[in-house]
Amino acid sequence: MKKLFAVLGDPIAHSMSPAMHNDLFAHYRLEAEYLPFQVQKENLKDAVKGLKALGAAGFNVTVPHKSAILPFLDEIDELALSIGAVNTVVNRSGKLVGYNTDGLGFIKGLETFLPQLANKKALVIGAGGAARAIYFSLAQLDCLTIDLANRTVQKAEELIRDCPFTNASRAFSLDEAAAKLGDYDLLIQTTSIGMHPNSTEQPLRLDRLGNKAVVCDIIYNPLYTQFLQQAKQRGATVQNGLEMFVYQGALAFEKWTGIFPDIQRMKTNVLQQLRRTLNVNR
Ligand code: NAP
Repeated sequence: MKKLFAVLGDPIAHSMSPAMHNDLFAHYRLEAEYLPFQVQKENLKDAVKGLKALGAAGFNVTVPHKSAILPFLDEIDELALSIGAVNTVVNRSGKLVGYNTDGLGFIKGLETFLPQLANKKALVIGAGGAARAIYFSLAQLDCLTIDLANRTVQKAEELIRDCPFTNASRAFSLDEAAAKLGDYDLLIQTTSIGMHPNSTEQPLRLDRLGNKAVVCDIIYNPLYTQFLQQAKQRGATVQNGLEMFVYQGALAFEKWTGIFPDIQRMKTNVLQQLRRTLNVNR
């Protein structure tokens, strides 16, 4: 019998995870199927119970359920618990165990072109859910300095306070951060600014950016935001959100199957989906 995998979210029709994971199941000849389910907030508990009763082998959780799902799981991994969000669930002999692969996925993608993170000075722009996963996962490495900049500075301060792994970070407004950009080796843009259809917007000006900086934007539609394009023009090395998306999926796939999948294959699959359904540039 085929193993059942799923993603729960609302909305969910746009999710690229089903095609990405089903392609991997076929490639590795695994008898499994991954289905998207649109689940409203008030039905999340029943949906999780239903997946457990059906013996689903694992599932992903996406917006808006990443935090709301915590009380409905049997166990939660330490990092996911500290982040307060789960994006991957594994059914271990009837027990639903929650993990967060978003932040670690970001780091794995980053390490493909910046292998030495030690002693780097990083600035995370944004203090939402994605920033939280990335900041906590980077802080856990305990080898680099990380500051935060956000429109609502108080949210950045709270995020720093909540993190059990570091207390040396500083919180800035976006304008303060723009004036200090030359201090950083690594910029990580995690806000939704610049995402299609608002692709002419960017969170802060880049005139102080150093030309040796590495600049990441976790948005993948457009593939290269205005922020990344400007950073590239200023001589920075840039990385888009495709890497994080693919690696968070690869880490989930590995937890479910024991196989660390072919990253290039996953990227090709997602790029094909993006080109078919969304308005992306190269
Ligand atoms: P979120 O929790 O809603 O956080 C949104 C962040 O954007 C906050 O820091 C918010 O600042 C800031 N923001 C929104 N509108 C703004 C504006 N007009 N001016 C200044 N700041 C603004 O969202 P999220 O879940 O973290 O997702 C953020 C982005 O990451 C989205 O584009 C999402 O698609 C992308 N993402 C990508 C991946 C991937 O795998 N590549 C994974 C997850 C998310 P305030 O705190 O001041 O409101």
